Amino acid sequence: MHSNMSSYLIMPLLIGIFNYPTYASSPLTNPAIEEPSVKHDALEINQFTSKTIEHKQKSYPDSLVISTDFPGGNVIIEGIDGDTIFLRPDQRDSSTWWFYWYFRVCGAAGHTLKFQFPDKNPIGTQGPAVSTDVGHTWSWLGSKTVQGSSFTYKFEQGDKDVRFCFSIPYLEDNLRQFLQKYENNPHLEVLELCKTRKGRRVECLQAGKINGNPKYRVLLTARHHACEMIASYTLEGLLEVILTNTNSGRWFQDNVEVLAIPFVDKDGVEDGDQGKNRKPHDHNRDYNNSSIYPSVKAIRNYVPRWSNKKLKVAIDLHCPYIRGEYNEVIYIVGSSDSAIWQEQQEFATILESVREGQLPYSAKSSLPFGSAWNTAANYGKFKSSSRWVGEQPGMRLATTIEIPYANVGTTVVTADNARAFGRDLARALRLYLENSVK
Ligand SMILES: [Zn+2]
Repeated sequence: MHSNMSSYLIMPLLIGIFNYPTYASSPLTNPAIEEPSVKHDALEINQFTSKTIEHKQKSYPDSLVISTDFPGGNVIIEGIDGDTIFLRPDQRDSSTWWFYWYFRVCGAAGHTLKFQFPDKNPIGTQGPAVSTDVGHTWSWLGSKTVQGSSFTYKFEQGDKDVRFCFSIPYLEDNLRQFLQKYENNPHLEVLELCKTRKGRRVECLQAGKINGNPKYRVLLTARHHACEMIASYTLEGLLEVILTNTNSGRWFQDNVEVLAIPFVDKDGVEDGDQGKNRKPHDHNRDYNNSSIYPSVKAIRNYVPRWSNKKLKVAIDLHCPYIRGEYNEVIYIVGSSDSAIWQEQQEFATILESVREGQLPYSAKSSLPFGSAWNTAANYGKFKSSSRWVGEQPGMRLATTIEIPYANVGTTVVTADNARAFGRDLARALRLYLENSVK
């Protein structure tokens, strides 16, 4: 039997109680329409908005409410059976299966719930990330809570709002908090690159030697793929070095003008899209012919003028696939251009030698062009950001760096050690510019 919304009991009187803001511009998530993979007894769900589901049962005095109605939210609830929730990541416009999801649970205090993904397993190597303080701090639930494609969570009495995510979220609000720390910093300017299709602001940060004539210019980008959140913590670490009054910081402030675009796919980040392989092509395949995304169009328009042949390094930060070979190490994606590949190898050696953070890094992990997924066939007729920026006059090092979502070797990824890797990148960047770029 096919379940649809009309078969659920709607209780309009309660709607006002769960008055979460709705994002009119967001694509509709349709949480309860799919046919459940198993039979559900005593299923009684009230849907309040397209992104909020309330489950009423005697054992839940406050009603169990599962919601994605906040920045970054993503999940489809297929059904609820007792204390088991059936769910899956909302793929939206992705052309290939991807694994990003982020939701919150209210009203479950005292219960142990099982979250079952009946389809392909989108749980990472450390289990889900969990937050009990409205998304301010996160920890990994750990793989012990995971069984196959499900995880369980025991809600304590005080657990009013518990959030679960595939990894550790990073949204516009995180960037705002980071920038607040540097509000009056003379080495930082926060500008707007452009507006997104949905009217959001795409931030563009200028940092370092922003007045006068810098010796070098450096471009930093992240979130060409919306869901690749760990990359953003690394970007924070990198910027922190450039903005701080330390020996390294002062060197950047005297020599380097940095342009950073923290969210290339800003709509995707805030809407909680996968972003990777979105149709007709994603932001990191939009650098050929006429760009279809305003942010990519603006980068292609602005960066060459800004560079004035001084742009020497461009680093595009990404996260790899969910797990497995190449996805549990930090690595540089080798360029098809042999001169740039040479520079990438040099930078990799420097990075390995200056690393101080917890996350391991080996220059040997670089993925040469032509290996694994990094082939001409993968890009087809499209052009990535790194390839486009590598073609700019005077460029030396244009590179993509992949930072895993949950573990680097045996080290568990946290917001802090992902930032520390960003500080490692800044140290390597300084040495590379000083010694290798004349
Ligand atoms: Zn990516």
